[in-house]
Amino acid sequence: MHSRYRTILLFGAPGAGKGTQGKILGQVPGFYHLSCGEVFRNLDTSSTLGKVFMEYSSKGLLVPDEPTIQMWSQNMHARTILGIYKPAVDLLVLDGIPRNLEQAKLLEKHIKVLKIIHLVCPDKEKMIDRLRRRALKENRVDDAKEEVIRKRWQVYERETFPVLDYYPADLISEVDAMGSPAAVLAKVLEVVVPVQNTHYKNALSGEVLPKDMDGASNGVHHTPPPAHAEDKVAAKKTKRH
Ligand code: ADP
Repeated sequence: MHSRYRTILLFGAPGAGKGTQGKILGQVPGFYHLSCGEVFRNLDTSSTLGKVFMEYSSKGLLVPDEPTIQMWSQNMHARTILGIYKPAVDLLVLDGIPRNLEQAKLLEKHIKVLKIIHLVCPDKEKMIDRLRRRALKENRVDDAKEEVIRKRWQVYERETFPVLDYYPADLISEVDAMGSPAAVLAKVLEVVVPVQNTHYKNALSGEVLPKDMDGASNGVHHTPPPAHAEDKVAAKKTKRH
């Protein structure tokens, strides 16, 4: 088995700005961004999986887990073979995956989660409005439908939000998603730069640190979180999105 991709997860409700932040971060040397939704949207819609994607996404539902993870891992593998993504120098930034507990478990053998950026948006209606405007601007017909947007939110609240509890609380950093993209980016960088410094040398100099030891620990522990993580646990319990 290949060693696991060192990963930062962008986490948050639909409309929180995961894609926007991921795209910007992906432009910075040493970060590689992959949006699961984008990979799905780029599928040939006449292919088997393309049809499955259309069937589910048009209703605001998640594509079933097995084909999702399979497509994702094949896609990642192809990117490493092609040298587009270089695990030795690039920190992987994922958005849109994992979307439920089962996906988080299935991803364990592929990724080592170093940090989770939780883009928090207390104002649900504002987020829904963002989605509506984006859908119109980008011509995403299904996303513009009120019922599809509401369904996506329901799915997020029921299936995706609980994924946070799967990971150790000290891996999770909350960032207020309500600011401008630049303001949010500043906060995101405060969190991710130290992670990059710890695990990689300067990507531009070409120097790389030896791969992290990836033996016994699987990135998930079930011991009590350290004291400083307590307020994050409390924040999670407030169920803000
Ligand atoms: P975007 O925010 O860029 O529109 P999303 O991440 O919301 O993209 O994905 C769009 C659709 O793609 C989702 O509604 C869902 O049907 C499908 N999808 C994306 N990621 C996943 C995933 N991890 N698991 C299952 N379905 C997914």
